[in-house]
Amino acid sequence: MKKLILTSFFALSFVVYAAAPVPWGFWGHQRINNMALFTLPEDLFGFYKPHIQYVTEHAVDPDKRRYAFKEEAPRHYIDIDHYGEPPYDGIPRKWNDAVIKYSEDTLNEHGIVPWYIEKMMFRLTDAFKEKDVNYILKTSADLGHYVGDAHVPLHCTENYNGQLTNQVGIHGLWESRIPELLGENFDYFTGKAEYIPDINAKVWEIIMESHALVDSVLNLEAKLNAEFPTDQKYSYESRGASTVRVYSKAYTEKYDELMNDMVERRMRDAIIELGSFWLTAWINAGKPNLTGIVIKPWTAEELKEMEDLDKSYKKGEFKGRDHTD
Ligand SMILES: [Zn+2]
Repeated sequence: MKKLILTSFFALSFVVYAAAPVPWGFWGHQRINNMALFTLPEDLFGFYKPHIQYVTEHAVDPDKRRYAFKEEAPRHYIDIDHYGEPPYDGIPRKWNDAVIKYSEDTLNEHGIVPWYIEKMMFRLTDAFKEKDVNYILKTSADLGHYVGDAHVPLHCTENYNGQLTNQVGIHGLWESRIPELLGENFDYFTGKAEYIPDINAKVWEIIMESHALVDSVLNLEAKLNAEFPTDQKYSYESRGASTVRVYSKAYTEKYDELMNDMVERRMRDAIIELGSFWLTAWINAGKPNLTGIVIKPWTAEELKEMEDLDKSYKKGEFKGRDHTD
């Protein structure tokens, strides 16, 4: 009963939906950021509560930023299998050591998400220390995006869109089509955020869990593809003025079933981990009391930055690798 009440409370509290047309993946990111707020203890939740909409909406800023800066794309993934075989013990877990071993160019070429999450944790901790509300919110929203991405198996492999196994399109099927079609019925009740004693170890644990699921993600789709009637694999939907080909509902549902709710499980893990990262940054900053500290009006420069981000994203010229095509 308690669970039911909480779940419907969460559903009601999720008020922000991205306006159409949106690229794949926005729904899941916004839902993760939104739900993670409800894992926080009361004192910290009280701080975020008036800003639920901001933290939810801005969950997708990093994806928009990929259209503005080429430096952005590698922050969303790591081609961990580029560096050898599991358990990948040879990859230095610390950024400086990894740079020495592989060079910064190589790391950027194959993705830096684990190290970038750590960097965002430093930033968020500093923002809490400074009691800089604007920066806390901005960094919290951004961190949510990268933590969300790190939970996606296809963000942790070179074969990120099935391009090496003749499964192109699987990236969007997994991280967008499934959550958008079935996500309303997922259970997002994850319990309470917990302090993370070793941030670096936690980040790598997430990456390794994601990577360990890559084989299932690919093999189960290949199996389904072989068995499923070809003429029922896709359907057509209108998006704004255009009609796009999408994986059919039947195909999507069957794939989700074969994976035994993997997408739901990874979303739930992302939610609880993200809440725990936010909580950890606040605790490491000395649990500052943020009552009564208000958000400053965004400066003209900050507003222009947000507007420019939207513009370059709407123009749709991608800088760097696009995971989705
Ligand atoms: Zn992303």
